[in-house]
Amino acid sequence: MTPERVKEELIREAKRLGIDKIGFASADPFLELKERLIRHREAGYESGFEEPDIDKRTHPEKCLPEAKTIIAIALAYPTKIPDPPASEPGAYRGVFCRASWGEDYHRVLKRKLEGLKERLLELVPGATAEEMVDTGALSDRAVAERAGIGWSGKNTSIITEEFGSWVYLGEMITDVDLPPDTPVTEGCGDCTACLDACPTGALVSPGRLNSQACLAYLTQTKGFLPVEYRDRLGPYLYGFETCQAVCPYNRKVNFTHHNEFLPDPEQVKPLLKPLLSMSNREFRERFGKMAGSWRGKKPIQRNAIIALGRYRDRTAVPDLIRLLKTDPRPVIRGTAAWALGRIGGDEAGEALRNALAEETDDQVLWELKNALKEEKTGS
Ligand code: SF4
Repeated sequence: MTPERVKEELIREAKRLGIDKIGFASADPFLELKERLIRHREAGYESGFEEPDIDKRTHPEKCLPEAKTIIAIALAYPTKIPDPPASEPGAYRGVFCRASWGEDYHRVLKRKLEGLKERLLELVPGATAEEMVDTGALSDRAVAERAGIGWSGKNTSIITEEFGSWVYLGEMITDVDLPPDTPVTEGCGDCTACLDACPTGALVSPGRLNSQACLAYLTQTKGFLPVEYRDRLGPYLYGFETCQAVCPYNRKVNFTHHNEFLPDPEQVKPLLKPLLSMSNREFRERFGKMAGSWRGKKPIQRNAIIALGRYRDRTAVPDLIRLLKTDPRPVIRGTAAWALGRIGGDEAGEALRNALAEETDDQVLWELKNALKEEKTGS
């Protein structure tokens, strides 16, 4: 069978499997990306979640010897919650970013890629192929760009003509030589909406992201969230997407044809207070299937405490005091102190002073002193 025919058959199979976009790229090294990644590391802009070996990230043959082609796929996800529950005083809610709605996309994309691989092996017996979703060494975005799925926007997302940047990306690397597609030319033009809207200046220049200042990454860390960013997080419990929400290519885009990604309103926009007393088991049962649960319960609880502090929710004070007094995790005690300082009031003030006399962790002590200062100034 000719390579052209194999490609046609794979495109047909992709449609049958419900894959929204498929593109083909050569497996040549990503030399330009390599230079960018080195500069990125030197500037201290890495998140720490990425594959540390830059060679592996930019040389497909290190993932699969004899690599010839990378097949990129994209699946569109929804952007609107049907009948979203409202936030009210005393019943405030947080939100998971859209890329975390429904079933964990890693699993969904993996199933699609496995289906595609099965077809490839029927068409080319003896071929080798390896599927990757986020967890592989290669950059999903660099592959998608080369395979013509979309262009890399100034906000660093891949933007497709049809679905905006609300797409999940995955790829399969193979030793079968298939005709490549043409990369999409840049489509941002003069627009700078994402750079202007980023609340922390994490987009330091077009297409250049300082992950250490990016709220999407910071929501996933397990330590203290830097104080200067806490007021900018909004209601987000996991992820952050202002740079995508403001993009003109994303306006009025809402694709709901993948049932797996449809949001459960109570899951993606949960009440904040109950999150503070959730057991590990409850967390797993309620959120375990979402992509947003991959870092466990602690970052979600920390972010929920920050949101309650920002909302100055007085009804949360008893829960926050309980955490300050009894939670074994310094991040949770310290963040509760911050929220109590923000909310203020006699009860919160007394709890902060009592904790100051008993606390032994240095970072929590720092938070307590800061919270008491804030409480005094009422800022
Ligand atoms: Fe490009 Fe504008 Fe979208 Fe940013 S907001 S990615 S500059 S089109």
